[in-house]
Amino acid sequence: MSKMFRAVIMGAAGSGKGTISERVANSFGLQHLSCGDFLRQNIAAKTEAGLLAKTYIEKRLLVPDHVMTRMLLPHLEEMTHQGWILDGFPRTLAQAKALNSSCELDLVISLNIPLETLKERLRHRWIHPASGRVYNMYFNPPRVQGVDDISGEPLIQHEGDKPEALVAKLRHYKDVAKPVIDLYKSKGILHTFSDTDTDRIWPYISSLLSTKIQMDHVDLQRASTH
Ligand code: AMP
Repeated sequence: MSKMFRAVIMGAAGSGKGTISERVANSFGLQHLSCGDFLRQNIAAKTEAGLLAKTYIEKRLLVPDHVMTRMLLPHLEEMTHQGWILDGFPRTLAQAKALNSSCELDLVISLNIPLETLKERLRHRWIHPASGRVYNMYFNPPRVQGVDDISGEPLIQHEGDKPEALVAKLRHYKDVAKPVIDLYKSKGILHTFSDTDTDRIWPYISSLLSTKIQMDHVDLQRASTH
């Protein structure tokens, strides 16, 4: 197990953030904190933040920064016992600054996946609107085609995931993420990976994490012998 290793993973929808985060969690014992899961849990539990967030998500707008930070940061601050990888947050510079003032990150992974690859992946994305569960007809299909595994209700394809809207959506993601990426680059903790295939990226991320986590161990040992 690592010390309280804290990582963020960034990338547009369809970039493979969720898949990589799961592998990081399984291989390195970090907790995968998915911002999408937090939002879904808060919506399902009808918390104040959840109900507010829902109105934005339904309009395909970003949830306001103060709602996101109030929902997530207290939870992160409580996680003193285990390292984590945070997926889907921060999305904006204001969120990154808020995260900065609450904890120190060890590493930021940025997935820079070619636009054509993202378009191809997102074309096959279907969701269950009531719960926000996401399926991909190739990588992660539902048990019965077109139907949500848990509720049995029909799946839909979001207007935003249809080819005509995708390019604008991905461009918007990049514009908003750019200052966040620049901030982490200036801190010297940004590592960017580009490929069309998650399986080809994974070995590089895995060896980076092995090195980083080992280095933290050595630092901790040194600190304890002084
Ligand atoms: P995604 O599937 O990651 O695009 O997330 C779905 C929706 O959740 C987005 O359209 C936003 O409304 C909301 N959302 C997820 N993460 C964030 C975030 N970090 N900041 C603001 N809104 C978010």
